[in-house]
Amino acid sequence: MADDYYQVLGVERGANADEIKKAYRKLAMRDHPDRNPGDAEAEERFKQAAEAYAVLGDDEKRARYDQYGHAGVRGGGGPDFNSEVFADFSDILGSFFGFNVGFGGGRRSSGPMRGSTLQYRLRITLEQAFSGDEVEINVPRRRTCETCEGTGSQSRAARTACSACGGIGQVQQRHGFLTVARPCGQCQGAGSVVQDPCTDCGGEGRSQQQQRLKVAVPAGVDTGMRLRLRGEGESGLRGGPAGDLEVVMDVQEHQRFVRHGTDLYTRVPASFPRVALGGSIEVSTVDGSTSTLDIPAGTQSGQVLEMRGMGMPSVNGGRPGTLKAEIQVVTPRSLTDEQETALHELGELIGDPDDLGDEQSWWDRLRSSVFGQG
Ligand SMILES: [Zn+2]
Ligand SMILES: [Zn+2]
Repeated sequence: MADDYYQVLGVERGANADEIKKAYRKLAMRDHPDRNPGDAEAEERFKQAAEAYAVLGDDEKRARYDQYGHAGVRGGGGPDFNSEVFADFSDILGSFFGFNVGFGGGRRSSGPMRGSTLQYRLRITLEQAFSGDEVEINVPRRRTCETCEGTGSQSRAARTACSACGGIGQVQQRHGFLTVARPCGQCQGAGSVVQDPCTDCGGEGRSQQQQRLKVAVPAGVDTGMRLRLRGEGESGLRGGPAGDLEVVMDVQEHQRFVRHGTDLYTRVPASFPRVALGGSIEVSTVDGSTSTLDIPAGTQSGQVLEMRGMGMPSVNGGRPGTLKAEIQVVTPRSLTDEQETALHELGELIGDPDDLGDEQSWWDRLRSSVFGQG
């Protein structure tokens, strides 16, 4: 049991995923029980290879194994290769040969089967992403049928072994040296059948249901982030565990704010006297409140002022980002007589500028504010 997994597969410790998969495939083909009937040693080697592959074939488990050895990959319930590996094995051979290869008894399909993991794309506003929210969603999913309590039987009777396949769930045909197994047609590979099928779920034990679920969206989420709700996917079959529900975040674009990581970019209107004299101005923030921005005297139109800590919260609990406010001097489109007179006088006093008075180009500013460079 405690043999080194790399030695079992005959690969270097630095082998890549492809080499590991190839090595396992070779061993699995050689020691496969159907090809070595009655050979207990081959079966033992086959199991060891499967166990080693269950760990080394999984990046996360492999990393734990590299760091902690066997202790690192043994969960509370012991090595979990029984359910997973056998599924994996037929997948590998299936993808290799294009059909299912049986191995003494269809362990894969007749036992409990885990429900599928479902994905749900959740569209939220930037405001919701900013403050965090609890959102109710409607999830269509196959859940345990309430009429038959998941037994699939109207009288809730236990399933009985399928007579066509003898409870194996597969019927086998020999093709040269390989035994090719196909799912049994009578029991659909389950190995057992329901005598009096439930009329609500047709005997499956699950029925399509539309259920409302609450999703707690943490503050700071961004498009593409995933929340995993354990056990909220489809119900399992024959006592198997439910799959998970993966909620994929999709944060809508905002009219006034552009997001870049935790930083937010916005434009703030200001009058010429305000930027010339300096002063403070109220800036709208994402959550609908306002915050005071100090404008230094001589601020130019297009200049970006930073409001630290006023950007998006960090979903990991880090520091919130920066709100970058681009000052936009707004020229009045219509003037009263009084304003016109005052501006005429001001114009005489100030005159027209000779240059832009600013060595940093507009493009540089745009780049540094939007993309955080420079
Ligand atoms: Zn039912
Ligand atoms: Zn059958």
